[in-house]
Amino acid sequence: MKCPIETGENSELLAYSEEKLEAARAAILKRHVEECTACREFVAGQRAVWSALDAWEPPAISADFDQRLYRLLNEPEPVGWWQRWLRPVLAYKGIPLAAAACLVVIVGLVMVKPAEQSRMTQGQPVQTLQADQVEHALDDIEMLGDFTRSPRSDAGEL
Ligand SMILES: [Zn+2]
Repeated sequence: MKCPIETGENSELLAYSEEKLEAARAAILKRHVEECTACREFVAGQRAVWSALDAWEPPAISADFDQRLYRLLNEPEPVGWWQRWLRPVLAYKGIPLAAAACLVVIVGLVMVKPAEQSRMTQGQPVQTLQADQVEHALDDIEMLGDFTRSPRSDAGEL
């Protein structure tokens, strides 16, 4: 039998250590473990870990655990100076919407296809194309506004 540690396939060795390997394979592995120092040390180590885990008993939970947990959950988290400055800015409703709108416009400008760009430079109706882009951007902004408003109304209902 090839040494499972040398081959790197030690799942059978793990099962053998836990005494969960089928009897025929366990007998073969037992013969190898008896003559292989590396496997013997592996099995001894695994069995030591399992017996230590079996012997370990978790400490009892204190009677006021729930009270302390809820008190910690309700405590305001410590706030740094930059959070104090940034929180009112982020709390303002228009900021996320404006950021989303800027993103939509930037993506729209980047996504203009090269063919459309060359057509625009060849005297095609540039005004119409930009109006379309603006219309799409406004539609996207409206959609994002609906999207950002809906979770707040859901949260308000809870
Ligand atoms: Zn071995």
